[in-house]
Amino acid sequence: MEIIRASDMGFCFGVRRAVEMAERAAAELGELTSLGSVVHNQQVVRRLAELGVQVVRTPADAHGRAVIVPSHGVAPEVMAEAARRGLRVIDATCPMVTRSQQWAKRLSRDGFTVIIFGNPDHPEVRGVLGWAQGKAMAFPDENALQSVLLPSRIAVLSQTTQTEGRFASFVGSLLDLHLKGIREMRVINTLCNATTSKQAATRELARKVDLMIVVGGRESANTRHLAEVASAEGVETHQVEEASQIDAAWLRGRARVGITAGASTPNEAIDAVAARLRELA
Ligand code: SF4
Repeated sequence: MEIIRASDMGFCFGVRRAVEMAERAAAELGELTSLGSVVHNQQVVRRLAELGVQVVRTPADAHGRAVIVPSHGVAPEVMAEAARRGLRVIDATCPMVTRSQQWAKRLSRDGFTVIIFGNPDHPEVRGVLGWAQGKAMAFPDENALQSVLLPSRIAVLSQTTQTEGRFASFVGSLLDLHLKGIREMRVINTLCNATTSKQAATRELARKVDLMIVVGGRESANTRHLAEVASAEGVETHQVEEASQIDAAWLRGRARVGITAGASTPNEAIDAVAARLRELA
């Protein structure tokens, strides 16, 4: 059985930067907190916890300790609360997410209602909604557009980790369903290059193999989208968080198995999956 790795996978620059900032801060301060997981990967969160980084929900839970803002960013009210409490803030928001936040701020200030294509419960989307100062809505899919009443000036952004195809289709549906009531519409491409490049590499690999293993956390939106991209090519695809979750039955009769991994998946997890596949083969 041949095992082939995607040409681009694993840690993106935003995640690597956030993890390195958390490691440096832990070495300097001994202990600190993070406002939600620094990245959506349990192995990374466990390793950072061993270094002294404790996950909390709000600045109030930090009890005076320094807080690190995760790569997904937070709403400005959260930053303001941390400042009010006099906490030291280490901002590890990914620059690509900061760009979305700044667009949301600027567009809402210019009178647009910001429409975000993304999961309203995802920390990145919750943060970007906050930067639009209450003049924003988030939609997880096109179905949610059917019954909504939209204002006449709208600006559309995407969660950074969506796929190009799904974003294009969302914008198309928006026009199909609401063009009559729209006077002005702006579309800002806030998709992340690191994500689209991994999706392209996954698509290319999925066409060559007869089984795909996608390595990454269940909460990781970009990992889930990689699994969707691979499945869309018609190849059997399984998402695993760690090597122990690989079922030997998946490999029966397979000649070529592809591996890809989300942006928050560390190399150790990818190597462990490859080693487990070789063992089972
Ligand atoms: S996937 Fe893109 S937006 Fe998200 S952390 Fe990585 S580089 Fe930043």
